[in-house]
Amino acid sequence: MHDFHFKNNELFCENVKVSAVAKSVGTPFYLYSYKTLTDHFLKMQRAFARINPMICFAMKSNGNLAVIKSLVDLGAGIDIVSVGELKKALRVGADSKKIVFASVGKTEEEIAFAIKAGILLFNVESEPELLEINRIARRMKRQVQAALRINPDVPAPTHEYTNTGSLKKKFGIDLRTTRQIFRSQKKYSNVKMSGVHIHIGSQITSGGPFVGAIKKVAAFIDDLREEGIDIEYLDIGGGLGIIYKDETPQTAQEYANKVLPILEKTGLKIIMEPGRFIVGNAGIFVTKVLYLKDNGYKKFFIVDGGMNDLIRPSLYDAYHEIVPVKQTRASKIKVDVVGPICESGDFFAHDRLLAKVNKGDLLAVMSAGAYGYVMASNYNIRGRVPEVMVRGNKFEIVKERETFKDLMRGERLPRFLRTS
Ligand SMILES: *Cc1c(COP(=O)(O)O)cnc(C)c1O
Repeated sequence: MHDFHFKNNELFCENVKVSAVAKSVGTPFYLYSYKTLTDHFLKMQRAFARINPMICFAMKSNGNLAVIKSLVDLGAGIDIVSVGELKKALRVGADSKKIVFASVGKTEEEIAFAIKAGILLFNVESEPELLEINRIARRMKRQVQAALRINPDVPAPTHEYTNTGSLKKKFGIDLRTTRQIFRSQKKYSNVKMSGVHIHIGSQITSGGPFVGAIKKVAAFIDDLREEGIDIEYLDIGGGLGIIYKDETPQTAQEYANKVLPILEKTGLKIIMEPGRFIVGNAGIFVTKVLYLKDNGYKKFFIVDGGMNDLIRPSLYDAYHEIVPVKQTRASKIKVDVVGPICESGDFFAHDRLLAKVNKGDLLAVMSAGAYGYVMASNYNIRGRVPEVMVRGNKFEIVKERETFKDLMRGERLPRFLRTS
């Protein structure tokens, strides 16, 4: 469910005409609905109310300050993967006791900063990382908490690049090693092993893989208990799928119905880390048609947005619905929707049946709220586009369009190439 809908053939975000935003900020741009964003968070909170979990928004899916502030104000914690994200989270007043830190490659600076900030948990992805955290904590004379990220080695039916719960992938620690680490806790004088963490992948639309992984981990926790090893937290990660095309993903409630009984039985404090589920359908990418091209073999809509703005189609072969911002009665034709970038991978859709458009028309690329702006680059020396947030009948720019000056910042010629 989301709050982008047509009224009199015009696409609205809540009560704002998308075309009005385009007129004001230019194209391309990302547009977020505050209502959709917060609704999704509240849905998750309600579905799991019985166990009152800590819902840590996976900020890597969308790190805009307005997005994270909206969620933090509702009580969300934050799942971070870098010190940059940590600093942004603190900037909007996130409670450091609701921050968990994943990443297979935390640097010394990142670990030290996170210790100083007093985050709740390091989600640790290897034994060497744990030794490093312990070393740094000891040096700082601090006691920290860690959850071991278990790689449960379960199949997750998702794109190869978003499957993280198999031992073929770099993520997490295998069960045998995890057990050994728990048994040798004494080695880590400054790290308390307080939890276990899993995150099996992203855009997973059915409950089976989650249930499988959580059951496996619950059994593991039981085994630990029998050995007299007690933990406090179980972090079940994120990964819930959303509708991009014709998927029938589980709702928050259906997800809860499946996993709650297992979670309740563990008696542990539950942490979850949804990203895409919360923000995916809360954002769209709006782009303008520059040219219509027909090379005799194929027809193309050439738009002003590119793979540098939204890379999901090129990177994951992801499907995004594309709709004209003004609906017309024009007949449909089969087209490729492509950007201006000098790459064949620069496309938003292949062989898509779309109503004929004219130069200057606006197209909305739907479900672009997650892993959209955050993955944007300056490839082809293109500035990042603005992000705009709508609430009710008002909209505001929440991140400015990058200027040429922004693009040039910090870049200079070496002395030997400077003339005069
Ligand atoms: C990416 C990630 C998430 C969020 O995944 P979604 O599919 O967006 O819900 C949660 N936890 C970890 C550790 C991640 O890497």
